[in-house]
Amino acid sequence: MPFTHYRTEGIFLRKEGRGEADQLFSIFTKDFGKLEIFGRAIRKITSKLRAGSDLFYLSEIEFIQGKTHKTLTDAILIDKFKKIREDPERLNLVCQIAEVLDSLLGWEERDNKIWHLLNEALQRLDNCKLKITYYYFLWNLFSILGHKPELYSCPVCGEKLLPETFYFVPREGGVVCWKCLKKFAKEEKKLSKEIAVDTVKALRLFLSEDWETLPRIKITEETKRNLKEISELYLCYLKEELAKAKK
Ligand SMILES: [Zn+2]
Repeated sequence: MPFTHYRTEGIFLRKEGRGEADQLFSIFTKDFGKLEIFGRAIRKITSKLRAGSDLFYLSEIEFIQGKTHKTLTDAILIDKFKKIREDPERLNLVCQIAEVLDSLLGWEERDNKIWHLLNEALQRLDNCKLKITYYYFLWNLFSILGHKPELYSCPVCGEKLLPETFYFVPREGGVVCWKCLKKFAKEEKKLSKEIAVDTVKALRLFLSEDWETLPRIKITEETKRNLKEISELYLCYLKEELAKAKK
């Protein structure tokens, strides 16, 4: 019985050597979401697939669905994001993006919004060296995945957030006012972090889903540090929740 061939565009997120010459890829595709696909004999110098299948390549790919797994049968390079590859700092940001997608997304769930967000992030990073692109990507991804944080009113008391001391509380899904935080148990307080007014402003701009605002965001080193902490806190929490849900 002949195999059905599927064609789509995809971005290579992860690759692992398998055996002597095979490779196992995690690819985020336009039409099928994240897929795990085998590259047979792909590490051999003669493989015609090599030119289109490397980490963070955007390629037109073709694969067949076997009984147990998918096998890559064609890969034509569309964009290799040359400037990202030449710059360790940008490469590092793309590695983080790929890692987040690999850990937060389920298999075979097509998502147009994530596809566009990922493409745009890679193109932007290829054109300019804005670290903030990573955070823009990350918070919009959270939002697409149904975890858009509450940034305008306290999710506990419902009061509008005034520019005073407040905290990011992952379990409450956003920014909580200090009056509510005071009432939290010690253990719960440990799982929250003070969030700066400027960080809240940056997050609001990110979630306005307008890439054009990015170069205009002025952000101090201190705010950057706070943004990094808050981002890590929320990402960590979401990964744990996902792991719990899988059990
Ligand atoms: Zn409150």
